[in-house]
Amino acid sequence: MFSFHYLNNVLHGEGINLESLLKEVGTPAYVYSARSIRDHFRELNHAFAPLENYRICYAVKANSNLTILRLLQEEGAWFDIVSAGELFKVLRAGGKAAQCTFAGVGKMSHEIEYALDEGIYSFNIESEEELELINDIAKRRGLKAPIALRVNPDVDTPTHHYISTGKNKNKFGIAFHRIEEIYAKVAALPHLAIRGIQTHIGSQILTATPFLEAIEKLAPLVMKIHQRYGLEFFSIGGGLGILYEGVLEKNAQSLEEQENSFLKAYAHALLRPLKALRLPIFFEPGRFLVGNAGVLLTQVLYRKETSEKNFLIVDAGMNDLIRPALYQGHHDIKPLKAKSREQEESLFEKVDVVGPVCESGDFFARDRLLPPLHAGDKLAILSVGAYGMVMGSNYNARPLPPEILLDGNTAKVIRRRQRWEDLIQGERTL
Ligand SMILES: *Cc1c(COP(=O)(O)O)cnc(C)c1O
Repeated sequence: MFSFHYLNNVLHGEGINLESLLKEVGTPAYVYSARSIRDHFRELNHAFAPLENYRICYAVKANSNLTILRLLQEEGAWFDIVSAGELFKVLRAGGKAAQCTFAGVGKMSHEIEYALDEGIYSFNIESEEELELINDIAKRRGLKAPIALRVNPDVDTPTHHYISTGKNKNKFGIAFHRIEEIYAKVAALPHLAIRGIQTHIGSQILTATPFLEAIEKLAPLVMKIHQRYGLEFFSIGGGLGILYEGVLEKNAQSLEEQENSFLKAYAHALLRPLKALRLPIFFEPGRFLVGNAGVLLTQVLYRKETSEKNFLIVDAGMNDLIRPALYQGHHDIKPLKAKSREQEESLFEKVDVVGPVCESGDFFARDRLLPPLHAGDKLAILSVGAYGMVMGSNYNARPLPPEILLDGNTAKVIRRRQRWEDLIQGERTL
């Protein structure tokens, strides 16, 4: 599952020596493991195989590189998208609109038109006004738009408040107590077709309890709606968490055991109540499939000591990876070249690892114990496969790093490093 490991004291990804790889591609650079993505997909698939009728709809927003979309499609994934741009990318990668569900609270008319014309599988609806707009657009085209309502189950999710979505105070979904009434309204709108029901309670959740709570709360409602209108699916959303801490200390096997034990607990808790529904079940994992399949490689530019802190200034910045700044995301950081364990631990020092961007929020770690590092040393920031590159920006006019996919003994660039010319794309001087 986890494909990054030290071999002869140098960090490798699959069969590739990352130090050597950097000589060709430079830093910063995102590196993904194809094997890790496939493994995660297969393990999830395997865990829910007893359901017989289910689909894994990869949440494209986690990492939308065309090659990764293609890889997951080849594994049998459908897609969960949140914008027309994501649909465009899925189609470009060889995917089909008929295998996409379209989520999001703010779908725009032109996005709805595009998705409808391409033959989207389902619009997952988040408000009554959206329903009416989709009905109008479908009417103009003489079509019936397939829809599902996204239910907000109002359950607590133990995660960062920025990535919790299943409470009434969040902007997502339609209140539980209004769902029946709104399905009745949908049934009366001539240009809508009821296709399913959906929920998504949040992200980076590491216990089965909140998922179980949501499903138990929704089950009677789902059954009722199904009996009334005949549903083609119940989507329980994404949100399965991954390990972010201690990823490399543990050997690959024990990491695999830990992730597997969570996956097992999740499947064990959910299989029975899901099976009882006798409906096709959809899953929408993003982070779980790609999160631990990616690292961001960077190098130390400078060391700087102030009266209070030791700083390591690296060449990756918050524009390349914003998770620490945005939601205090933790990422383990490892030198590409390790010394022996004993040697290291006695010398560890506390440092802040920061980027070159002009913001105090531009950091990757604070007060982190790391072996002594100096200008030129290369580092890997771990667990960045999800919500990493996709959140990248050109802030400070910094070109985005390349993305490289490892597969066995090959390493291929799946997105080249941006050039200065890319920074002025579409701009004009008047
Ligand atoms: C973000 C999102 C997901 C994926 O969440 P992960 O935590 O990455 O699994 C799934 N479904 C919807 C509707 C989402 O918005």
